[in-house]
Amino acid sequence: MEKNCEVVWEKCLSIIRDIVEWQPYKTWFEPIKPVKLENNVLTIQVPSQFFYEYLEEHYVELLAKILRRELGKDARLEYRIVVEKGSAQRHPATVDMPTHYDKPQTQNEVDFPLFQQNTPVKNPFVIPGLKRIQIDSQLNPHYTFETFIEGDCNRVARRAGKAVAEKPGATSFNPLVIYGGVGLGKTHLAQAVGNAVKKLHPHKTVLYVSTEKFINQFIDHSKHNAINDFIHFYQLIDVLILDDIQFFANAEKSQDAFFAIFNHLHQSGKQLVLTSDKPPKDLEKVQERLLSRFRWGLSADLQVPDFETRMEILENKMRNDGLEMPKEVVKYIAYNIQTNVRELEGALISLLAQSSLNRKEIDLDLAKKVLKSFIKTSSKEITIEAIQRMVCEHLGVPYEKLLEKTRKREIVQARQITMYLAKSFTKNSLKTIGEHFGGRDHTTVIHSCQTVKDLMETDAAFREMLMELQQKVQLSAL
Ligand code: ADP
Ligand code: MG
Repeated sequence: MEKNCEVVWEKCLSIIRDIVEWQPYKTWFEPIKPVKLENNVLTIQVPSQFFYEYLEEHYVELLAKILRRELGKDARLEYRIVVEKGSAQRHPATVDMPTHYDKPQTQNEVDFPLFQQNTPVKNPFVIPGLKRIQIDSQLNPHYTFETFIEGDCNRVARRAGKAVAEKPGATSFNPLVIYGGVGLGKTHLAQAVGNAVKKLHPHKTVLYVSTEKFINQFIDHSKHNAINDFIHFYQLIDVLILDDIQFFANAEKSQDAFFAIFNHLHQSGKQLVLTSDKPPKDLEKVQERLLSRFRWGLSADLQVPDFETRMEILENKMRNDGLEMPKEVVKYIAYNIQTNVRELEGALISLLAQSSLNRKEIDLDLAKKVLKSFIKTSSKEITIEAIQRMVCEHLGVPYEKLLEKTRKREIVQARQITMYLAKSFTKNSLKTIGEHFGGRDHTTVIHSCQTVKDLMETDAAFREMLMELQQKVQLSAL
């Protein structure tokens, strides 16, 4: 029996590894030990109460799904929490806790069209006797406006989102396109709109779907000659949130279906909220007729939050999760993790996990240790400073001159090149970039980037030099 539980758990882990990112996988799943498997109840041992709570809060659905897949419908999961008292490890106290994921499905609920292989596709929403379709919105209830901290980096997008949530389909922000780099809050904000609509307009049908899922569903339906059902289903939604539309690249047929859905919804005054990792105009392999639709509404970007906003995000997260740590530690994290919010949260959580695992108080020392490994393994961030130094070295320009007001030609050019590279390789705002050059304003940065682009087009030697530099910067990030 022992063996069996390990095999099953290893199988689960192999699926989890595909779904969960590396850092959280290492933090939350590697320390788990499978203990036994009896009567379809898998018992796993976790290192602390905190671990158990964290898993329950963040991964219970994933675990439930995977376990059911491995063991069948009546599979259950129980936790054993090791409570160590000092060094006395002789008698680990065990607490068995059944999880609560066996939520009964209410009868009226129509399953979101999610098809496993081999299941014939049925029209997923026609339920006799039901006046209105009821679908699971697929929203994460934690993603709300209240938990989405506002800063310079996201003000426009957040406010537009709120306006849309108050009057879905009735503002000029239709579609609302939220774009920005990874981990900057696109999914959170888009879902916040959905959650707020559900609260303010309970009768409206809201649906969140990732573009990947949308495409997969489309493919399933087309295999079963059910494209019309598919399109009709989506046309019944009042607020459709489609996440990561950059995945439409090359998916021609899915784009056609989305085009039909988009037109219908837009004409009927329904709201669309889309997210993308780049501005709509830069989306590649997406039909022009779709791109032109995206321009009908508002595109708002998310940028990397500045230090104050990062502090606020961390403090808010700690407040919501009931966590505490010294202010200097929070500052340390906010100061050092400058890539995106996901990593910021990841660092905080790693620190908590480490402290819980090793039963150590969280202090600056521990933070330094944990963040060191965290930064090394998960961040390939290129900083403005690093770019400045590379350019100076490459062009033989003294670093201080870059920050001074010198108008000497070669210094001016080095400065322009550095700003251009900083804009392309970091997620800093124009304002932040300007500040790194002795407090120049953002219009100077815009002008610099334009000058460099112009030169690249007209001057072959310049272009070559710049390509070389770009390569250097890229390599430095590996
Ligand atoms: P994206 O979809 O852009 O990759 P997510 O929406 O998944 O990013 O955000 C990553 C994490 O950062 C999520 O846990 C989210 O809650 C959090 N987050 C992002 N922006 C904010 C913000 N302004 N305030 C609070 N949390 C944020
Ligand atoms: Mg996302």
